[in-house]
Amino acid sequence: MKVFYSEKHLHHVQGEVYEKGTWRAGRDVPERVACLLNAACRLGFDPVEVRELQQAPAASVHTSQYMTFLETAYAAWGRVDATGERVIPSSFPIRQKAASYPDSIVGRAGYHLQDQLSPIGEHTWTAALAAASVAWSAAAHLVKTKEPTYALCRPSGHHASSDKAGGATYLNNAAIAAQCLRQRYSRVALLDIDVHHGNGSQEIFYQRSDVLFISIHRDPADYFPYFSGYACEQGEGDGLGFTVNLPLPAGSDDTTFTSALEEAISQINAFQPGALVVSLGFDGYREDPAGGFDLSSDAFYQAGQQIRSLGLPVVFVQEGGYALEYLGDLLTCFFNGYGFRDIYGCRDSRGAAHG
Ligand SMILES: [Zn+2]
Repeated sequence: MKVFYSEKHLHHVQGEVYEKGTWRAGRDVPERVACLLNAACRLGFDPVEVRELQQAPAASVHTSQYMTFLETAYAAWGRVDATGERVIPSSFPIRQKAASYPDSIVGRAGYHLQDQLSPIGEHTWTAALAAASVAWSAAAHLVKTKEPTYALCRPSGHHASSDKAGGATYLNNAAIAAQCLRQRYSRVALLDIDVHHGNGSQEIFYQRSDVLFISIHRDPADYFPYFSGYACEQGEGDGLGFTVNLPLPAGSDDTTFTSALEEAISQINAFQPGALVVSLGFDGYREDPAGGFDLSSDAFYQAGQQIRSLGLPVVFVQEGGYALEYLGDLLTCFFNGYGFRDIYGCRDSRGAAHG
């Protein structure tokens, strides 16, 4: 399998973020990519560095106004007195259906950044554009060859809607991959197994019937992103019935997760897509600082097997996963389950081997 990646993420620094009334270190550190890429190479994956940055893939799911904002925000921010080093919003158009678009970069930051977890630094736009190009390249490879591919994206993408960043994500890599697959396949499924709801992906496809969005995540009633990911959200207009949310209780274990994924697999089978995008998050792991689920590495092995059972051409797009010490093993377990073997087997936090 080819693993697409870019070195351009390295200078993107999430830095400190503001959450629950306090500043804390952001979890999206560059070392995540090294952990995952090393594990992919041990599995025998063929690394492909994407060097050319293209705007067209991102433009397939994002507004030009939003992309211009992301591209120019950092420079504009620096021209305003009394602003810090990174673009971090402090004023939001909360629940205003027809919010006007301000001239001020401070206002625009609140318009396009839905939280204070997603600062824009000097290199954020380049990194986001590179991640989008990675996702598009992986999907284009599948379109050409039908071979499964792995897009090792950083920053992740699934919280980004057509015109808003959030949850440390800026351009929606998985949606971009799905949009690319639509060139060849009339129906595409997007399965999101990150512990957080993929609210951006949902919003992008909410009114469409050609992309089934299905997400398993911790119940947002008391968890990020709070405002979406509820079972009652099922799409609207042409898209009614093509969004499926399977929220699970805090601390859900392997059995609960695996049976929710079985339900998702059966709904994907019923949809009869030509291809699949998987938003692959490892932050449901029990040692992950995201603290959402209580999954062992075996759940990811099982998930690989379950997704394999669909027999679909698939693009795996990297989303969250922040337990650096375990990330490589989790990737290995997942792809062992999917059918790739390495010489190490896989281990969970208690040291038990699987596969
Ligand atoms: Zn996540």
